Amino acid sequence: MGRLDGKVAIISGGARGMGAEEVNLFAKEGAKVVFGDILDDLGQQVEADCREAGLDVAYTHLDVTVESDWEAIVALAEERYGRLDALVNNAGISISVEGGARNISLEDTSEEQWDRVMDINSKGVFLGTKAAIPAMRRAGGGSIINISSIAGLSGAWSRSHPYNASKGAVRLFTKATAIQYAREGIRCNSVHPGPIMTPMSASTYDDPEVAAQRLALVPLGRRAHPIEVAYGVLYLASDEASFVTGAELVIDGGCVAQ
Ligand code: NAP
Repeated sequence: MGRLDGKVAIISGGARGMGAEEVNLFAKEGAKVVFGDILDDLGQQVEADCREAGLDVAYTHLDVTVESDWEAIVALAEERYGRLDALVNNAGISISVEGGARNISLEDTSEEQWDRVMDINSKGVFLGTKAAIPAMRRAGGGSIINISSIAGLSGAWSRSHPYNASKGAVRLFTKATAIQYAREGIRCNSVHPGPIMTPMSASTYDDPEVAAQRLALVPLGRRAHPIEVAYGVLYLASDEASFVTGAELVIDGGCVAQ
């Protein structure tokens, strides 16, 4: 028996990294998964691989900053699978710097960079939640999981100011959503990963000296595999977390415990 049997989930940013891992894990645990990304070739590949493994998933283009894309993916979930029980707002970006390792000063941050990070990481979560709530209400309840970061809990220059601000916004947006919709059986929680081995953070660890400095800040002394976050997201999506809402699940090897 799967931990998500009978459930239908939407996952954003599912073409690679943690999102792709969650698409796989949710489907293996019995969910029907509709997932979206802006990387259509990669997304279609994940869809094909899952289907070959006998998993029931559907990929569609989803730019999380576009409200009509959200309306379309929610409609697809309901048309194809009849309901919507879970939403993982996973898509996100950081400011990329050549070489990946340099700290990004506030004064070197452009208005355009600020707007882009806030649009995808914060507004995207708002639009996804707004589109999903009516469908979850029709299903009699649901679970929304917002992927923040340890950068949403404490400041770190190395992660850039807009990234910190966007992930902090996700943390409190989650609590406001949890409170408003609790009486309708819709739960909402945030997940705060530390350093995870995904394409987003790969270049940061290319320089061995920088990698050693970064890992020295992690009590467990390593980066995590995406599956180690996916299991936490799975828990929050499942009925095992039926009394958990407005909470922060930190999966960071001990970083913010210090
Ligand atoms: P990733 O490998 O870059 O995957 C994120 C996916 O989201 C990518 O396919 C990305 O495409 C996509 N995306 C970007 N903009 C989008 C948009 N407008 N609409 C839809 N999809 C979009 O990153 P990840 O490391 O798995 O990150 C997943 C989440 O975890 C993010 O919210 C991230 O901030 C958070 N997180 C990551 C870490 C870490 O160490 N990796 C730590 C803490 C939190 P592009 O490549 O085109 O941008």
